Amino acid sequence: MPDVSKNIDRLKKSIPPNVCLIAVSKTKPIALIQDAYQGGQLDFGENKVQELVSKYEALPKDIRWHLIGHLQTNKVKYIIPFVYLIHSVDSIKLLNEIETRAKKINRKIQVLLQIFISEDETKFGFSFDELKAELKNGTFKKFQNIEFRGLMGMATLTDQEQKISAEFNALHQFFKEIKPQFNASFDTLSMGMSSDYLLAIQAGSNMIRVGSTIFGDR
Ligand SMILES: *Cc1c(COP(=O)(O)O)cnc(C)c1O
Repeated sequence: MPDVSKNIDRLKKSIPPNVCLIAVSKTKPIALIQDAYQGGQLDFGENKVQELVSKYEALPKDIRWHLIGHLQTNKVKYIIPFVYLIHSVDSIKLLNEIETRAKKINRKIQVLLQIFISEDETKFGFSFDELKAELKNGTFKKFQNIEFRGLMGMATLTDQEQKISAEFNALHQFFKEIKPQFNASFDTLSMGMSSDYLLAIQAGSNMIRVGSTIFGDR
């Protein structure tokens, strides 16, 4: 079993204090999450709704649960009561469903808009142009139960660091460009995982989602 608290401490020493670390615990057992929690880690990320819900039920209620994987509209209702931040909002349809479900229980849900920045066709997200068009239409102003906290993106899976950095830099530029159109709480740029978090931070990330470096390979 990996010493997850030691891995988290080591990781935190290598990143600036303003960068929020999300410990990505997908596929990992409750016991390892408990180890990290006892070491002081409160932010955890999962990519599947069912796994997120069962871990939420089993673990302390002050954990901040981040949904980082693709979210289907018909599953929104299961996470709305407790989710802390949804990183993977990739359509207006999904925003509409989050708004409806959040309104029902009088919650305001924090979200990041996922932007497609990579060459990997399997990844999700708005293109820069799609998001600009929605901004022009004022689409995001109508949501009362959603708090737009920022953007999320994933770089191409490659060992070409220049390519990864270029993608992250482009997203950071775009973030700065559109930020004035949201309110002051639009302050989060979620990019970087185990293989590329240092490049992401160099390119302006202030939230990284790290799994295998903390919990071991999946
Ligand atoms: C799995 C996952 C991560 C973490 O990946 P690691 O390589 O294990 O650090 C980050 N972001 C998303 C969206 C993921 O699905």
